Amino acid sequence: MLQTRGRKRCVWGVRTAWNTVGDGEFFCPDCGGDRNYRRRTGRRRLTVLGIPVLARGDVGPVVECAACQARFGTEALDHPTTVRFAAMLRDAVHTVALAVLAAGGASSRTVRVTAVRAVRAAGFDDCTEDRLTTLIDALAADAGRLPGAYGGAADPADPCGAALAIELHEALEPLAPHLAPAGREAILLQGARIALADGPYSPAEREVLTIVGGALLIRPEDTARLLTTARTPS
Ligand SMILES: [Zn+2]
Repeated sequence: MLQTRGRKRCVWGVRTAWNTVGDGEFFCPDCGGDRNYRRRTGRRRLTVLGIPVLARGDVGPVVECAACQARFGTEALDHPTTVRFAAMLRDAVHTVALAVLAAGGASSRTVRVTAVRAVRAAGFDDCTEDRLTTLIDALAADAGRLPGAYGGAADPADPCGAALAIELHEALEPLAPHLAPAGREAILLQGARIALADGPYSPAEREVLTIVGGALLIRPEDTARLLTTARTPS
């Protein structure tokens, strides 16, 4: 025998030549954190004695973690990074707070204070009553944005404004699939507590919170139950 067992194993093989086609940051499920990734496609070749002899097709694209080198399908990019997730969460609470204020509670100091507390706790440390009211006034001045809300001419068919509903969906829907049910409910309950700070829900507040529940993928009956639970603190 001319070859040792060890060398024999190396006679035939498949080698993949990887080509990097992009990069960015993602959440690596293997090493568990925000990491750089390389998006790569590969070309497989059958090798004999290390020499490529036959094309065996393309592989990928795959996402390769720069830290641990683990490879994933491109669906790994659907999961937001920790930084992005935190920003989405902060924006969600901010948008819900604004929406509830815009639904009519902004004139009450208790409501404004509760809203500021929620928005600050979500991560906007510099949120103040003034900033929130400035935003609400700007929204209210933009007639196309908040028709009927916050002292404007009420349109009974559209009490909280179609544009505001779109805003809520845009802020909440991308986040919802990445949150556990308790996390989604917590956002709704924060909105509910802001609305309740000056007494029972107004019809407009209830409507806004129902939209919030829907955008957070909470079932309508669960949204209704949570809004009732929030009303009666144990
Ligand atoms: Zn990794």
